[in-house]
Amino acid sequence: MIKNSTQAITIRGAKGKRMGGASDELVFVAADSGVSMNRLVRFTIDAGLAGLEMQLGLPGTVGGAVYMNSKWTHPVGYVGDAVYQAEILTPVGERKQVPRSYFHFAYDTSSIQKTKDIVLSVIFSLRSDTKEHLWEIANGSIRYRQETQPQGVKSPGCTFRNISQAEALSVPTPNYTTSAGFLIDHAGCKGVRVGDAEISPVHANFIVNRGQATAADVVQLIELVRSRVQKEFGVRLEEEIVKVGEF
Ligand SMILES: Cc1cc2nc3c(=O)[nH]c(=O)nc-3n(C[C@H](O)[C@H](O)[C@H](O)COP(=O)(O)OP(=O)(O)OC[C@H]3O[C@@H](n4cnc5c(N)ncnc54)[C@H](O)[C@@H]3O)c2cc1C
Repeated sequence: MIKNSTQAITIRGAKGKRMGGASDELVFVAADSGVSMNRLVRFTIDAGLAGLEMQLGLPGTVGGAVYMNSKWTHPVGYVGDAVYQAEILTPVGERKQVPRSYFHFAYDTSSIQKTKDIVLSVIFSLRSDTKEHLWEIANGSIRYRQETQPQGVKSPGCTFRNISQAEALSVPTPNYTTSAGFLIDHAGCKGVRVGDAEISPVHANFIVNRGQATAADVVQLIELVRSRVQKEFGVRLEEEIVKVGEF
């Protein structure tokens, strides 16, 4: 196992112009892939740079967030939206600079999930804004997380991906919802347990560990929820969480 402890964050320069109050200036910030997203977000806000502020509270590193194209929904923002270029290590050991387009970012998806490249560092392109405005958005994300997600418990985050708009329309789901949490909740799964693994009573798309839950308990609970949602709504949910090891 490798723990990525690379830590550098630097402002690399800017391009574009400021004219009076208006600006089309882009500022480039480089971060090593081991930098925690929360540290990077705080750094960019303190530098008065917009593009990542809504991600405050997102656990994990820059590398993990690029791999998953991590996102926030209130307001909507994908980590991939702010990527300008990255340095990667390919499976054959080649170091390459690649542009944003290389990653084919989409919902919970980037190309490196297939190519198995390792992200070494990332350059983000960000815009100027006032620190006050950026902290307002960032604190709004934290508040929303505290109000809607289980706090102070062990959890791997959202279990299932939301479904696509096209699937919600064709099934159709109640009010054409794409929310996995809504479907799990309305299939009566909140509070359902396998061993110490429980569907959170706070947010149905979170599994929480009530004590000694094992990975096997979590996987069994995932299958139980998947089959209940399929039976109730005719939707097959796909996992957002990534399993490591043999199951
Ligand atoms: C409580 C909780 C809340 C969460 N909330 C959100 C949320 O609001 N929005 C959201 O989108 N996600 C959310 N997540 C998921 C989180 O963004 C992802 O789990 C993220 O990938 C974690 O990053 P990590 O560094 O811990 O990656 P890991 O969990 O260590 O790895 C995740 C995957 O990324 C790969 N990876 C990691 N680093 C690199 C690298 N440098 N190069 C290539 N591949 C790499 C790993 O191989 C693995 O396949 C949440 C998770 C938790 C636990």
